[in-house]
Amino acid sequence: MDPYDRTVRDLRISITDRCNFRCTYCMPHEGMQWLPREDLLTFEELTRVARVCVERFGFESIRITGGEPTVRAHLPVLVRRLADLGVELAMTTNGATLDHLAADLARAGLQRINISCDSLRPDRFAAITGRPALDQVLAGVDAALAAGLSPVKLNCVMVRGVNDDEILDFAAYGRDRGVEIRFIEWMPLDGDQAWSSEQVVPAEEIVAAIDAEWPLQAPDGRGARDAAPAETYSYADGRGRLGVIASVTRPFCGSCDRIRLTAEGQLRNCLFSVRECDLRALMRGGAADDELASAIAAEVGRKWAGHSIGQVHFIRPARSMSQIGG
Ligand code: SAM
Ligand code: SF4
Repeated sequence: MDPYDRTVRDLRISITDRCNFRCTYCMPHEGMQWLPREDLLTFEELTRVARVCVERFGFESIRITGGEPTVRAHLPVLVRRLADLGVELAMTTNGATLDHLAADLARAGLQRINISCDSLRPDRFAAITGRPALDQVLAGVDAALAAGLSPVKLNCVMVRGVNDDEILDFAAYGRDRGVEIRFIEWMPLDGDQAWSSEQVVPAEEIVAAIDAEWPLQAPDGRGARDAAPAETYSYADGRGRLGVIASVTRPFCGSCDRIRLTAEGQLRNCLFSVRECDLRALMRGGAADDELASAIAAEVGRKWAGHSIGQVHFIRPARSMSQIGG
């Protein structure tokens, strides 16, 4: 593998490992141990890491994630502090409580939002997430649009035999609502280690299915992509856009510009990283900003250009997606 040599500009902050859902592709069905409260980074500590990333390294965007970020109390207070850093501020959420939170989050400075939803059928939604909450989530999408969050995107993890018969339903929903659907390939980060490559629905198949119904166009004819992982396509009839995230079949590690901070303050230079850097220990041990910045720079320097899923030397990380932050 080649060492990774791009500039890192995007910080993903997981603010809790807790969640009010239990999605099958994300966390174990049983035996989930939540972190004790004192192990979580405080708002001050989270903001400090973010400030160092912005001031010392020119980070341009921050995404709040989890676990489920909206289960953390006083979320708008954190949003305000991060927004004050002058970055593009986004959040990824399951959307279940957005109907009453979206306006406060927007007022506090949140700009963009991704809402996760893997089925538009109530029974299937409940089976996937462990919660009969589809109506609440769709109300959350409407609340996010009404609050002026922009863009509002819907993240759909596609799993063969589970929800791959809903590709056109999702596309139709996105076209009707003005919401960009982002179809995500299932990655081996589920809690129960049930992932199999046969259940990955290739992005290419998704694009072909939609293109056959509603022709797609893209600026370069293939799908546009910059450092953002989604390849985006526009509908030829002007009814919006869609994105596919081909993390498994067309890895984009070489252009990835993000690092992740877990809820307990471990810096990870990749979703599939098998090592972490303990920023909480540094901060609670009295480290100055210079020391924190050196640790962040060293971790970025260890970023590699490929995750090797499907190859013999791939090592599956010990944490599930919910503990890393998507
Ligand atoms: N709870 C929030 C939510 O569901 O949006 C934020 C955390 S969740 C881990 C972030 C994103 O990761 C979600 O869009 C989810 O669908 C996605 N995700 C979870 N497990 C995944 C997996 N094994 N492969 C691909 N995406 C996954
Ligand atoms: Fe919770 Fe999000 Fe994982 Fe679903 S995908 S279990 S909502 S953290």
